[in-house]
Amino acid sequence: MRRLYDRCIRCGARVPWGRSVCRSCNPAGLPAPSPSQYHATVFISVLLVLTGMAVFFLLRA
Ligand SMILES: [Zn+2]
Repeated sequence: MRRLYDRCIRCGARVPWGRSVCRSCNPAGLPAPSPSQYHATVFISVLLVLTGMAVFFLLRA
Protein backbone atom coordinates (compact mmCIF):
# COMPACT_ATOMS: atom_id res chain seq x y z
CA MET A 1 0.00 0.00 0.00
CA ARG A 2 1.35 3.41 -0.96
CA ARG A 3 1.63 6.31 1.41
CA LEU A 4 -0.89 9.12 1.20
CA TYR A 5 1.65 11.81 0.43
CA ASP A 6 4.53 12.31 -1.95
CA ARG A 7 7.90 13.96 -1.81
CA CYS A 8 8.75 17.14 -3.70
CA ILE A 9 11.11 16.24 -6.52
CA ARG A 10 12.99 19.51 -6.01
CA CYS A 11 13.32 20.02 -2.26
CA GLY A 12 12.00 16.79 -0.75
CA ALA A 13 9.19 18.45 1.22
CA ARG A 14 6.03 16.52 1.89
CA VAL A 15 3.41 17.16 -0.80
CA PRO A 16 -0.15 15.90 -1.27
CA TRP A 17 -0.59 12.61 -3.08
CA GLY A 18 -0.36 12.97 -6.84
CA ARG A 19 1.80 16.11 -6.79
CA SER A 20 5.45 16.02 -7.73
CA VAL A 21 6.52 19.44 -6.41
CA CYS A 22 5.56 21.44 -3.32
CA ARG A 23 3.84 24.82 -3.25
CA SER A 24 7.02 26.82 -2.71
CA CYS A 25 8.75 25.12 -5.65
CA ASN A 26 5.70 25.57 -7.87
CA PRO A 27 3.82 28.67 -6.60
CA ALA A 28 1.77 29.13 -9.76
CA GLY A 29 0.43 25.60 -9.52
CA LEU A 30 1.69 24.82 -13.00
CA PRO A 31 1.33 21.23 -14.09
CA ALA A 32 4.32 19.22 -12.94
CA PRO A 33 5.98 16.77 -15.35
CA SER A 34 4.98 13.33 -14.19
CA PRO A 35 1.47 13.83 -12.75
CA SER A 36 0.36 15.93 -15.74
CA GLN A 37 1.66 13.26 -18.05
CA TYR A 38 -0.31 10.71 -16.08
CA HIS A 39 -3.45 12.84 -16.12
CA ALA A 40 -3.09 13.43 -19.85
CA THR A 41 -2.88 9.68 -20.40
CA VAL A 42 -5.97 9.10 -18.27
CA PHE A 43 -7.82 11.94 -20.01
CA ILE A 44 -7.01 10.56 -23.47
CA SER A 45 -8.06 7.06 -22.39
CA VAL A 46 -11.39 8.37 -21.09
CA LEU A 47 -11.87 10.37 -24.29
CA LEU A 48 -11.18 7.29 -26.42
CA VAL A 49 -13.60 5.18 -24.39
CA LEU A 50 -16.32 7.85 -24.66
CA THR A 51 -15.74 8.20 -28.39
CA GLY A 52 -15.85 4.42 -28.81
CA MET A 53 -19.10 4.22 -26.82
CA ALA A 54 -20.64 7.04 -28.87
CA VAL A 55 -19.75 5.29 -32.13
CA PHE A 56 -21.03 1.99 -30.75
CA PHE A 57 -24.40 3.44 -29.76
CA LEU A 58 -24.71 5.40 -33.01
CA LEU A 59 -24.13 2.23 -35.02
CA ARG A 60 -26.65 0.29 -32.92
CA ALA A 61 -29.41 2.87 -33.36
ZN1 LIG B 1 9.76 21.71 -3.05
